[in-house]
Amino acid sequence: MTGKGHRLSTFAFVAGATASPVAAMFSLLGSTFPDSSEYLIFGKRRNRYHRRYTHWFVPWLVLALTCFNRAGWIVPRLSALIDGREAHRDVWACAGFWFMGCVLHILEDAWCGTVPFLRPWKRDIGAHVFKMSPNFGELSNGEKVFIVCSILIAAISLAIRTLTLKDLVHFWNLI
Ligand SMILES: [Zn+2]
Repeated sequence: MTGKGHRLSTFAFVAGATASPVAAMFSLLGSTFPDSSEYLIFGKRRNRYHRRYTHWFVPWLVLALTCFNRAGWIVPRLSALIDGREAHRDVWACAGFWFMGCVLHILEDAWCGTVPFLRPWKRDIGAHVFKMSPNFGELSNGEKVFIVCSILIAAISLAIRTLTLKDLVHFWNLI
């Protein structure tokens, strides 16, 4: 999946799941790291190791859960980060969502290719739900559909979280 696809769908998923723009922003920042870490670690030899060790979900998930545990399982609050009250918990939560962005990157890659499951050197799980564009960095039609679906799912989940029954009755009375 392209960097743009990872950033958009990760932001949408986390915003829909947490309703926190801070959490969604930090996941977006982490969402391309499994790919960029390949350049940092393997340099020009990256193709030989593409989607192997860096795309094994276990270390990213352990780091995310460790940070969430230090945070006391809270969603980061912008107000706490600004006024500093108990802000260390929110900082841990931001780090947790950054690593969660890496976990989601791997899940997203598994939709259009294969990633390792139990053995980090072997790409053995994944579905080819949509095809990638042969041009590097270009969004294929399948990837566009995937991004639009993730944004729709996130919007529906946000609407369910924020709208109450009273709002619906009010809306019904208006029409
Ligand atoms: Zn990747």
